[in-house]
Amino acid sequence: MSAVIMDGKAISKEIQAEIAAEVATFTKQSGITPCLAAVLVGDDPASEVYVRNKHRACERVGIKSQMHKLPASTTEEELLSLIDSLNQASDVHGILIQLPLPSGIDTLRVLDAVNPRKDVDAFHPENVGLISQGRPRFLPCTPHGVQQILDRCGVELSGKHAVIVGRSDIVGKPMSMLLTAKDSTHGPQAANATVTICHSRTRNLAEVCRSADVIIAAVGIANFVTVEMVKPGAVVVDVGINRTDEGLVGDVDFAAVSQIASQITPVPGGVGPLTVTMLMYNTFDAAKLLSS
Ligand code: NDP
Repeated sequence: MSAVIMDGKAISKEIQAEIAAEVATFTKQSGITPCLAAVLVGDDPASEVYVRNKHRACERVGIKSQMHKLPASTTEEELLSLIDSLNQASDVHGILIQLPLPSGIDTLRVLDAVNPRKDVDAFHPENVGLISQGRPRFLPCTPHGVQQILDRCGVELSGKHAVIVGRSDIVGKPMSMLLTAKDSTHGPQAANATVTICHSRTRNLAEVCRSADVIIAAVGIANFVTVEMVKPGAVVVDVGINRTDEGLVGDVDFAAVSQIASQITPVPGGVGPLTVTMLMYNTFDAAKLLSS
């Protein structure tokens, strides 16, 4: 293997230690302990694991967490009423609605009901608008995690060609806004990259990817990015999480691509841990914002 592994687990640990130190000082000075309220509807096993991981991360950095577990039969109105009470609660700083919600519940209506100042996932249209204007209140957790990895691994982005495969509201689209950002906010250097976003209708995808200095794969198809799609020396970030018979794999054919990339993230142990960590970062930011 020639690529240097970008170790998301180690970077995540480093950032959590920084957050824990800052939270301790903040709590000592203000008497406020940041608090994240997680709302889980139904009993999707993967969602339960995600919420448990977030709860453990909260404990590690000194953030309180509340778990609101509702049955799959919960109505939209009941869920909205819970969100309203969490919006009002002065001891709750961040609200997380674990997705997916059961069918029959209008996900956008629910996400739009979260107080934008407590919207630590940065899904609310007000927060998306602020990001697109280059004055973010919160950065979306997964794209922010990717940016932290690139920054802390010394990847120079300015003027480079970054190709993002995937245009979802959660990963691809906000990733493109962070990578084209002109000014630095919330830690990482301003990226100033030239960005191409690809999706299922993109023509000559392999050719577009081969022109990339940096590839961000967020497709949701195991081993989708093959070695033929990667320029030797490119930096490759794999956001994908795919459960296969061989276990958890990413969107990148790691075995082959790691032979020619200069730096690459593994799955697991790459972007995943950062997503949870940046949620802690946002919850702490929300507590500072709401108490100022
Ligand atoms: P979505 O399914 O919402 O989006 C997938 C994107 O990939 C879409 O834009 C789709 O295009 C595009 N796509 C699908 N097939 C192709 C194709 N053949 N060629 C080119 N583009 C294609 O997924 P998410 O963005 O939510 O997630 C992507 C992956 O990242 C998943 O594996 C998910 O589990 C993982 N993930 C990981 C996180 C982490 O913390 N590491 C956090 C969030 C997600 P189109 O728009 O045209 O349909």
